[in-house]
Amino acid sequence: MLTIVKQALALVKPEVSSVGTGSISARGSLAHVGRYVPGKPIEEVQRKLGLSSVIKLASNENAYGCSPKAMAAVAEEMARAALYPESSSPALAQKLSAKLGVREDQLLFGNGSDEIIGLLTRAFLEAGDEVVMADPTFTRYEQNVVIEGGVAVKVPCRDGVHDLDAMLGAITARTKLVFVCNPNNPTGTTVGKDALRHFIEQVPDGVMVVVDEAYYEYVTSDDYLQTLPLLDAHPNLVVLRTFSKIYGLAGLRIGYAALHPDVASVLHKVRGPFNTSRLAQVAALASLDDPDFVAMCREQNAKERDRVARALSDMGLRVYPSQTNFLLFEVPGSGAAVAERLLRQGVIVRAGEGLGAPGTVRVSLGTPEENDAFLRALTHSIE
Ligand SMILES: *Cc1c(COP(=O)(O)O)cnc(C)c1O
Repeated sequence: MLTIVKQALALVKPEVSSVGTGSISARGSLAHVGRYVPGKPIEEVQRKLGLSSVIKLASNENAYGCSPKAMAAVAEEMARAALYPESSSPALAQKLSAKLGVREDQLLFGNGSDEIIGLLTRAFLEAGDEVVMADPTFTRYEQNVVIEGGVAVKVPCRDGVHDLDAMLGAITARTKLVFVCNPNNPTGTTVGKDALRHFIEQVPDGVMVVVDEAYYEYVTSDDYLQTLPLLDAHPNLVVLRTFSKIYGLAGLRIGYAALHPDVASVLHKVRGPFNTSRLAQVAALASLDDPDFVAMCREQNAKERDRVARALSDMGLRVYPSQTNFLLFEVPGSGAAVAERLLRQGVIVRAGEGLGAPGTVRVSLGTPEENDAFLRALTHSIE
């Protein structure tokens, strides 16, 4: 049976996060929020386990790095590092607007699209407001909602795919935002074109629909909705994209939202004045001039995605159909146990338990050599 979980503060015993002497207390909502736990860094694993060769397939980073054009632009921009960046990335907005077919005032940049998720919850949620999302999905939605005193309404996926009808049904008079992660992290799945178009049309005007397309450029399926052309007809639609994944700029932190200018105006009020750095802005700009790099990553990734998925299936493991640069697969027993055995062999992956998908492992796709090393280590890690 599908059960919708409302993660309300009211359901949890109120606690106070005390600081120091106990006389200073943080916002009550923070008692119910844990720190985000990222994949382990390579250096830490090398040091702790005494391994010389470690590969990280845990954070969906680009196995092929970034464009050489971005590296050159960053090196050059360092001469101006003493100067604050332009606040709203106008050069990048101009170039991206031409590429995407949206107006410049429909673009807003953030310190990664992760920051924009936080701007949305900060700008739009009052305590007790509800936010509908899939389960499992990107854990940062729930964290940001709870920080703002909102209620995360988690609607179970069906076979790893957003159940858009059930999500529509979960919308109430208290609902302010709905997150659709397409493709979804951690399952890698997409929702169908018609289903998502119908969903966007059905969501009431007073509810913002946030479609997170962090893995947009990796999608090869034809049954995938182009959302940007819907922006004009749907002022409540926000599309999130990033330079962290296929553009390989995760370490520089830059992502963007395509959205109605009025919504952008509201988010501009709550963002930091220099939320994207000079280096991030020029790297993103230069990356847009290297479509060959993006095409190479997309092609290599699609090839490896098929190959690794087939190898996992051949091992008798259920793999979710992925349109991203990672694969989620089911393992016997706990994902954490398998991830730990892989770690001891120098392969860092994410256990599904930390991603809301117990009994699974999420592995990012690496280079063919890295993927082979992962598959080899996995044969020694499954009981
Ligand atoms: C990686 C990721 C992001 C954002 O990454 P940034 O580095 O903050 O741009 C957003 N959403 C999902 C689903 C992701 O997997």
